[in-house]
Amino acid sequence: MAYLQKLTGAQPIKLRDFDPEFDAGLNKQQGEEKLQKLSAELTRLQELLYAAGQHSVLIVLQGRDTSGKDGTIRSVMGPLNSLGCQVASFKVPTEKEQAHDFLWRIHQQTPGKGEITIFNRSHYEDVLVVRVHKLAPDKVWRSRYVHINDFEKLLAESNTIILKFYLHISKDEQEKRLLERAEDPEKYWKLSAGDWKEREHWNDYTRAYEDAMNQCSTPHAPWYVVPANKKWFRNLAVAEAVVKSLQPYERQWRRQLEKIGLKEKAAIEAYRQNQT
Ligand code: AMP
Ligand code: MG
Repeated sequence: MAYLQKLTGAQPIKLRDFDPEFDAGLNKQQGEEKLQKLSAELTRLQELLYAAGQHSVLIVLQGRDTSGKDGTIRSVMGPLNSLGCQVASFKVPTEKEQAHDFLWRIHQQTPGKGEITIFNRSHYEDVLVVRVHKLAPDKVWRSRYVHINDFEKLLAESNTIILKFYLHISKDEQEKRLLERAEDPEKYWKLSAGDWKEREHWNDYTRAYEDAMNQCSTPHAPWYVVPANKKWFRNLAVAEAVVKSLQPYERQWRRQLEKIGLKEKAAIEAYRQNQT
């Protein structure tokens, strides 16, 4: 059984039906052991992905402040070969970005063949923060779900394997983490009064996230709700979902490698025969 349910749009979801404390009955040590195995498997699959050069992988991370986007990136990407791996972080759009359509800055950062890209926030901010803070008229952000679906379909049809994760924490857990940041000098850089203020909009964000997931979950670009109160479980669940999504491609990538090898070997052979 997979730790996470893949949302493909068949059934609308409510976040209250997902327990942020869920840990599949594992303890932290068991979780960390399992994660190690999955990391090794992911590293192996990344090599094949890179070498075969047929597919791209796009991992979208969304979640409220303190939900653990940075920590997930460190844990899941850490063991990977940085040659074929990048992170793109999306902040408040610059003036130049504002002067374009909302997908302009996003499309420039999508992974090329053989690459894995993690989006730390994404085009979904344009139906989340933009909606909650009324940064655009209703008509504008409402029209974006269709644009997002079309965009993701284009990526998928261009051989992009897409996974989208919502890191699901409870309001109490967020408070705990915000308080911890104020206690720990190494976390001072993350302190932001704005994060406390955002909590006033907790329910608005819940609705915005539910709508985003219900409108934009498809078999080729599924959402996953990740129970994220326990950091070790969050890391484990994300790693597992990524591994499970890549495994079905292994045979195809190996066949491609075989083809590349045979072609190059024949070319080398022909070259050497010409020399003699
Ligand atoms: P952080 O992830 O803490 O560095 O914060 C980045 C900030 O940028 C968050 O408050 C996001 O809500 C904000 N942000 C990201 N994308 C957009 C967007 N398209 N429009 C407005 N704000 C955004
Ligand atoms: Mg922040």
